[in-house]
Parts: sequence; C-alpha cells; structure tokens
Amino acid sequence: MRRSTSEIDKMRRAGRVVAEMHQATRAAVRPGVTTAQLDAVARRVLERRGARSNFLGYHGFPAVICTSPNDMIVHGIPSDAVVLHEGDIISIDCGAIIEGYHGDAAFTMGVGEVDAESRRLMEVTEASLWAGIEQLTAGNRLHEVGRAVQQVAEAAGFSVVREYVGHAIGTKMHEDPQVPNYWPGTPGPLLKAGMVFAVEPMVNAGGPGTRVLDDGWGVVTADGRRSAHFEHTIAVTDDGPEVLTLP
Ligand code: MG
Ligand code: MG
Repeated sequence: MRRSTSEIDKMRRAGRVVAEMHQATRAAVRPGVTTAQLDAVARRVLERRGARSNFLGYHGFPAVICTSPNDMIVHGIPSDAVVLHEGDIISIDCGAIIEGYHGDAAFTMGVGEVDAESRRLMEVTEASLWAGIEQLTAGNRLHEVGRAVQQVAEAAGFSVVREYVGHAIGTKMHEDPQVPNYWPGTPGPLLKAGMVFAVEPMVNAGGPGTRVLDDGWGVVTADGRRSAHFEHTIAVTDDGPEVLTLP
C-alpha cells in the first residue's frame, strides 16, 4: 500500500513518540532495574504525547513494550520478576499510534559492561538493519532488504532468525507484505514511493533456531546463545529511504 503525504506525516509523528520511548527506556536501563519498570517509563511517554499503544492488548499482550534479555530474541513480557544485571544485554521494542497511524522500532543495549562478543553482536545487528534500510529505494525489490541484512550478519559469523520477520506498517502495526531478514529465493514486490515498512533483523550469536516459552510470548534461541534485535519504521520516498522512528 502507498501512503499519502499526510498519512506519512502522521506516521512521522508516531515515529517520534517511539524514538522518545527509546530515549526514555535507554536512560532507565541499569543493573537492578526490572523490565516492568522499563514498561512504566515507556507508558509515561505515551501518556505525555497523547499516543495510544499498539502493543498493549495485541492478541492479549499485557504491556506497551517488549523486553527481551540475553538469549531472548523478541516478545518478552515486562515483569517485576525480571531484574537486569551487569553484563546482560536487553532488547527493547516500542510502538505508538498517533491519529490511527503506527510506529514500531526496537534496539538492543548492554547493561553496564558487556563482553566483547555481545558488543559485536549488537554492532553487527544494527549495521545489518542499516544495510537493509539502504535497499528501500523506489524501483528496487523488497527482498533486497533481506539479502543485505543476511550478508552483513552472516559475514560476521552470526545467523539470522527465519521464523520472525519485518512487515509493512500503516493503519495496522503488521500489514502485508512481510519483510524477511534473509533472501527468500524471490525478489519480492517492486518498491514505490509511499510504501512504509518496519525492518527488524533478529541476529543470533549461535544458530538460527528459536523456541517459544511456556508463556506463549517470549521467543528464545534454541541453543541458549544471545540474540540482538534492531528495528526502524521507514518510508520509501522519491529521495530515498526516510527513517520515521528517529528522534
Ligand atoms: Mg517492533
Ligand atoms: Mg515490528
């Protein structure tokens, strides 16, 4: 679907709220904080900006952000029982709705000092996101995004999750088509100005396998190694990709 200038303007506003949720939660991450406290920080941003949450109530999800530490890939439920410790990594996924239009973005950061492999995993995953974003130009094909993400992640010796992917976004958080983080064997749809996508590589230090926890939400690596997740919402424009979820 192609969005009008005024629709993209609303998505830009939603994206700025998401960026503010990132800044606020990032500033709150420290050893001893619980993931429920991070959720409360994000809720205050939504309230202050008059935005609605696209996560809260989504298939019954009970929070406004997802918090996924260490070997958890995505979809972690914030909890009073999950305390972050020095040396952990934490992925925080945030979303917001302004006037019916959605923004969605995620980042991973260290809690205090983290080991060298975790730092490299986060750097490579973020670099793979930007390599994917560069492919979002009018006239290109969508699945060049996944090809670029996969190349960056695998060149570093890491692996890309297959079961969870990015997506188009607009008046719903998850719209078609999907945006795989790997080359799926076909070039995919032609990209046109006005299309908006959430690109979100999930990169594992070990193998690509995943497992869902008994709570039905948290997705962890099958081998117990760490995973990182970075995401932005991006509009295809005549002047190239415009990242809507930057401050
Ligand atoms: Mg997200
Ligand atoms: Mg998303």
